Amino acid sequence: MISYELALPYSLEPGWLAPYVEALQKGRAMGRSCSKCGSVSFPPQRRCQCGSGEAQWVRLSGKASVLLRTHGSDGTFGLVQFEGATNKAVTRLEGFASEITDGHLIAPPSDVPALILAPSKSRSTP
Ligand SMILES: [Zn+2]
Repeated sequence: MISYELALPYSLEPGWLAPYVEALQKGRAMGRSCSKCGSVSFPPQRRCQCGSGEAQWVRLSGKASVLLRTHGSDGTFGLVQFEGATNKAVTRLEGFASEITDGHLIAPPSDVPALILAPSKSRSTP
């Protein structure tokens, strides 16, 4: 194999996803609530499963439960269910021990928006 590093500068405009992207950069979750059926998507969907394109932005808690996880050479990732959302999301999992299933969204280490989940503080056991 021949390795070659390729630099490709580019910029992406968030467009209609601006509220979502700006919230992600701060470690916050903004979802879309469908005006027709009330379904909340996070990550936001342009068009709801019911077919409606009308929706409002809603702030979610950012808390999520890990449903499935996979470990790779570039990190651990999970299929998660965010509190208040009807769809699921794939996120990076930072600092998750195998028994931890609850986490919350955190701000990415750079300005590049990313879905990163950190473990929620464990409940004290009596
Ligand atoms: Zn809908």
